[in-house]
Amino acid sequence: MAAGISESAFNDYTRVMGFSVDFQREIRTGDRFELLYETERDSIDGKVVSGKLHYAGLVLSDEQLGFFRYDGDKDTIGWYDENGNSAARTLIRTPISGARLSSSFGHRKHPVSGFNAMHKGVDFAAPRGTPIIAAGSGVIREAGWKGSFGRYIRIRHNSTYDTAYAHMSRIAPNIHPGSRVKQGEIIGYVGSTGKSTGAHLHYEVMVNNRQVNPMTVRLPTGERIDDQHLAAFQKTIAAIDQEVLSHGTIRFAGDVTIKNTQ
Ligand SMILES: [Zn+2]
Repeated sequence: MAAGISESAFNDYTRVMGFSVDFQREIRTGDRFELLYETERDSIDGKVVSGKLHYAGLVLSDEQLGFFRYDGDKDTIGWYDENGNSAARTLIRTPISGARLSSSFGHRKHPVSGFNAMHKGVDFAAPRGTPIIAAGSGVIREAGWKGSFGRYIRIRHNSTYDTAYAHMSRIAPNIHPGSRVKQGEIIGYVGSTGKSTGAHLHYEVMVNNRQVNPMTVRLPTGERIDDQHLAAFQKTIAAIDQEVLSHGTIRFAGDVTIKNTQ
């Protein structure tokens, strides 16, 4: 925002990158970002009415990401890397924003019981009432009180992936077993119900009903762009490259040589 990006371009950028990047934990000093967006102004008062994002790039210390908007037809509107792989993933990396990772996956001394136990999820400390979103689209399997988990929701995303959310202060009103949720939809709010020492979200990712580390699990990508759109998509990339270069900057996210030039 300090760079003067329009709010809608900013929101698009974080949504597209949010599938791959955990902005709370993975961003480091020295990482760089770039965007190409168009600005539409009201012809009378000059106010910005929209800021459609066309390209999103990010250079992290160990990874480079670049995604291009492609508005093909109804089925192919979306964001893809330069090889045509969709930016969207089955699950968003972090189902809560503004949170601090307070306990990671693995063996630890339980904060309440004091026993050593396997922690089968990750904990995000966040103020009570912070919205929790569905990490992916799916069907609610459980929603309600579940012993030491307190208020608890489990979502089935597909035949492989489930996610679970515990210790909520409140479950969103339309969330019931059997109801459908969309990725990013608010399902509940952070609390400290059940066996808990303070407001936090306990979050689990299950692969074939077994808990895995949500921070390191390899998340499947969405679809690849349809072959019949590939040529048009490549034209889009070329046009974006040309546009970026005409403004005297370099599209670095797709350029593997950049790491050595800093
Ligand atoms: Zn936990």
